Amino acid sequence: MVEVIIDEDKCVKCRECVVICPTEVIVEENGKPVVKDVNRCIGCLSCSYICRSDAIFHRDIYIEKKLVYDPAIEEKIMKFV
Ligand code: SF4
Ligand code: SF4
Repeated sequence: MVEVIIDEDKCVKCRECVVICPTEVIVEENGKPVVKDVNRCIGCLSCSYICRSDAIFHRDIYIEKKLVYDPAIEEKIMKFV
């Protein structure tokens, strides 16, 4: 089963993963990012890429998800870098 894991010790609560997640897997709750519905994850890895603190990890994503190239997602990411 796919898991998206946020290391709370590393997270600086910048919210960039919340903003960039295209399917609202990661949402903000009480000022911090929370993984809500992992079944909606499309495996784009945008959240891990954008995280300045290297605080987001995925488990079994390569086994269960077909990674897709989506120019719209890349465009969104490029606004952050
Ligand atoms: S991008 Fe990283 S540091 Fe920022 S809120 Fe998300 S997990 Fe925390
Ligand atoms: S891999 Fe993509 S869809 Fe999955 S939680 Fe991260 S940003 Fe959202």
